[in-house]
Amino acid sequence: MNWSKKIYPCITTGPKESWQNKIWECDRLGITSVSVFPTFLKITERKKLYKALEKSNIKYIPHVHIRDDFKKWEMDFFFKKYGTRCFNIHEHSFDDLNKYPEYKKYIYLEYNYNNYIPKMVSVSTIAGLCIDFSHMWAAKNRGAKEFDEIDKNVKEYKVGCNHLNGYSYRYRRDIHFVRNIKQLNYLKEIPKKYFGDIISLEMQNSIREQLQYKKYIIKVLSKK
Ligand SMILES: [Zn+2]
Repeated sequence: MNWSKKIYPCITTGPKESWQNKIWECDRLGITSVSVFPTFLKITERKKLYKALEKSNIKYIPHVHIRDDFKKWEMDFFFKKYGTRCFNIHEHSFDDLNKYPEYKKYIYLEYNYNNYIPKMVSVSTIAGLCIDFSHMWAAKNRGAKEFDEIDKNVKEYKVGCNHLNGYSYRYRRDIHFVRNIKQLNYLKEIPKKYFGDIISLEMQNSIREQLQYKKYIIKVLSKK
């Protein structure tokens, strides 16, 4: 399997490293394909992000983490300009999708691990699953119901994409700023059936660090 082609660095928007810096890094490092996760940005900030993307050399955005307050024009922006065919949402977002029904077939569901799944969740109305490996591992090791739900759903629905970040065995939780390759070793235990075609590094780390971790991840996954 060509893991290198499936794994994309990601412009995340968390507090640790700015998204502005990540776009700058992409241009400097010659990265033209990158996922974009405006998870933390309200509309005014997102508009700034979109302008910066247009000014950059970024050509292809395989995967976008959308928010409840996303507008249809934002979906159009990614779909038409950057070839995005994978969007992911959280469990509580199903009601918001009626704003753009034509995009439902490109939208994938990401579960958390709080042992509660809202009634509105219905994977059959969208494209399938976006499995966040560390969320899934936390759900499994905490005995949260999301793990059984994912396990049942992978038999029926497509895994379109993944979020890849670190995992803490001690706290049984996700780590979005990876400090050590050991925090990625849980990937060794994850069966292949949970992997989709597009794997986004949902890390707050700089793009440069993401690319270093990517090398290690490829090494780990190649042994599968
Ligand atoms: Zn995630």
